Amino acid sequence: MAQDINKTARRTVFFVDDDELFLQGLKRSLHHMRQEWEMVFISDPHQALKLQKDRSETLIVSDWMMPTMDGLTLCRKVKEQISQNSLASAYLIVLTGKQNTRDAVEALESGIDDYIHKPFDMDVLVARIGVGFRTLEGERKLRLANEQLEILATTDPLTSLYNRRHGLEILEAEMSRVTRGKQQLSLIMVDLDHFKNINDTYGHKAGDIVLVNIAKRMKSTLRRYDVAIRWGGEEFVVVCPHTDSTEVISAAERLRKDFTSHPIQVDTLQEITVTVSIGTSSTDTSPGSDAGTLLSLADNALYQAKSEGRNCVRSG
Ligand SMILES: [Mg+2]
Repeated sequence: MAQDINKTARRTVFFVDDDELFLQGLKRSLHHMRQEWEMVFISDPHQALKLQKDRSETLIVSDWMMPTMDGLTLCRKVKEQISQNSLASAYLIVLTGKQNTRDAVEALESGIDDYIHKPFDMDVLVARIGVGFRTLEGERKLRLANEQLEILATTDPLTSLYNRRHGLEILEAEMSRVTRGKQQLSLIMVDLDHFKNINDTYGHKAGDIVLVNIAKRMKSTLRRYDVAIRWGGEEFVVVCPHTDSTEVISAAERLRKDFTSHPIQVDTLQEITVTVSIGTSSTDTSPGSDAGTLLSLADNALYQAKSEGRNCVRSG
């Protein structure tokens, strides 16, 4: 049932109260006031809690005093539940017959978002629920904006591969796993041969197409857990966890051959074949290396590949 509710794009509000008559009254009044809302009326707070489990957005109007679980506990549990999911948020309103100011303070301090005294005006309740929906919507927009910022900060806009800064973070994290356990890690450093000639002959647009194509090809050739990074210009680095020096050389060879055997379409008329030079390095052949050492070993190997005629793999 929770999933069916989730699928609807309509705004959903859950009313929880142990007093069935009160819920029925609420239902009658609200149904014709706000027909666009989906309203769920529940007398058992445990069931209400269960229904929130997979929701990304939750709005609850709950009674405070209930025999099996009080409203503040329900709200706390809902918040705990959604705190497991960074993409979820909840807005919680408590209704109560308590008139004491201290109770209101206690309720608000316990983490609920709003507090309404019984008896209340139905228009006020509707307006306060409206505030809740607006708040949830604001939070949703903020989450989306943060996600976009995260993507911008970690990826290269042209190729959609990770950028160098984020790539280094990933490499450092993987390296710490190597130090802790017994697993090996290897690096592949790829440099496009004669990239300047491609730009000079076919234009920068063609150059960009080639780079995008290389990124795509790398993604499809590499294994799922290998991480490809646009290191800069026409240079790429691949972090290969759980990979030793022998395995990385065959992975690099596979990648190199894939380029020579599949020309790249730079416009409707032109196809060009690009080649790459590759340097590799591995923790098993350089035990005790840190990320920086491993990178410069791969870089030296790449330089060797360039000086020995390009379109080949050398290991550092
Ligand atoms: Mg009650």
